[in-house]
Amino acid sequence: MNNCMICPRQCNIARENSSADRGALGFCQMPLLPHVARAGLHFWEEPCISGTRGSGTVFFSGCNLHCVFCQNYEISYLNKGKELSIPELRALYDKLIKEGAHNINLVTPTHYLKAVLASLEEPLPVPVVYNTGTYESVASLKQLKGKVQIYLPDLKYISGKLSKRYSHAGDYFAVATAAIKEMYAQTGPYVLDEAGMMKSGIIIRH
Ligand code: SF4
Repeated sequence: MNNCMICPRQCNIARENSSADRGALGFCQMPLLPHVARAGLHFWEEPCISGTRGSGTVFFSGCNLHCVFCQNYEISYLNKGKELSIPELRALYDKLIKEGAHNINLVTPTHYLKAVLASLEEPLPVPVVYNTGTYESVASLKQLKGKVQIYLPDLKYISGKLSKRYSHAGDYFAVATAAIKEMYAQTGPYVLDEAGMMKSGIIIRH
């Protein structure tokens, strides 16, 4: 197995595939197989994402930032969630779409790049939203080209002093701005449908 260099942490470890393996883990403290804490229709994203039927959110466990102010502490720090196979992850998307989800919204998916790519091998009938803290490597994002239609990146800091203190990432601004440029290069200007729902584009949360 190749050592993990998925995100800018560049841990370079032979990351375990499953939590049953008890192998090496990097900064994100998660194996390659996805752990999911919650999946459901979410009505409190931006109106062009949640619409009237809700956004099909999948909350992944673990994180590659570990911000001290995280509102999802139990998911991102304590890694609460259940390990899923790729077909099980795909079945979650299908279930949410059947329930009426306007889109599939992958929340904190960065460290599960390989699983996300595998789960999206067959295109979905609704847009895929990539909802991230934006500590992303451009090389990894390039692999998502054509599979993600909407990017929802945070831009949390300009100050390296603050990003280091609160998210353990002194290079956050340079990393995040390069990532956002790559996202925009993939999606171009935003596109809404006739009902005002986002079909493609990027929304920066700052
Ligand atoms: S995804 Fe996890 S193991 Fe891989 S480089 Fe990032 S923090 Fe390290």
